[in-house]
Amino acid sequence: MIIAIDGPSGAGKSTLGKLLAKELGLLYLDTGAMYRAVALAVVRNKLGLTDEDSAAELARKARIELIGEPDSLKVFLNDEDVSAEIRTLEVAQAASIVSTNSAVRRTMAEHQRQIGESAPKGCVLEGRDIGSVVFPKADIKFFLTAKPEARARRRFEEDRAKGRISTYEQTLAEINERDQRDVSREDSPLTIAEDAVVIDTSELDLAEVFEQMIAVVRGEKSEAA
Ligand code: C5P
Repeated sequence: MIIAIDGPSGAGKSTLGKLLAKELGLLYLDTGAMYRAVALAVVRNKLGLTDEDSAAELARKARIELIGEPDSLKVFLNDEDVSAEIRTLEVAQAASIVSTNSAVRRTMAEHQRQIGESAPKGCVLEGRDIGSVVFPKADIKFFLTAKPEARARRRFEEDRAKGRISTYEQTLAEINERDQRDVSREDSPLTIAEDAVVIDTSELDLAEVFEQMIAVVRGEKSEAA
């Protein structure tokens, strides 16, 4: 079974994707972490973020692995654990730019398909283009969204819990900038797949969203939200 979860930053995709994967015994794949790992490689190699050919080559050569259970997933770049380093603001911004590169996207999408298809019981993939490009025939597609203010508030609180210094206003501006790039890029922009179940999580708590999603998966209802 392939479950696609797409949507903008801070809509709850990761938290809910992990919960769903655990509940259903499926593999969980955070595709944003893969773009972040490529971006980290680009930054470390001191390549310009707009040097498309070099970024594409790095993406092809890089060995990116996600290992472990959903809650303790580690991201490896060429055998080095980069789980913490890919979460910095600098890498988030770099990932947002590097992910506009079509050659990088092709390499990542292929890798994601291989991982999803070889998962014994199936996979929950979370990202921006899973239901539209990577697995257009996914068994179930979710599109999680929320008002920018709600998303920024959540991201700001997550960051603060992790000891990152930022302000709510900075977080909101950063989220808006990345979202804008995701929806306006030429290749695989963030869009709602025709057959996706859309859930606005602005006013819902985690348990309520999870209930809606699991109900859709179990076929208890055909529409959520
Ligand atoms: O989800 P996360 O914020 O970790 O993703 C980092 C960046 O990678 C996003 O801002 C987005 O631009 C890009 N991305 C993408 N396609 C995906 C997943 C992430 O373009 N499937």
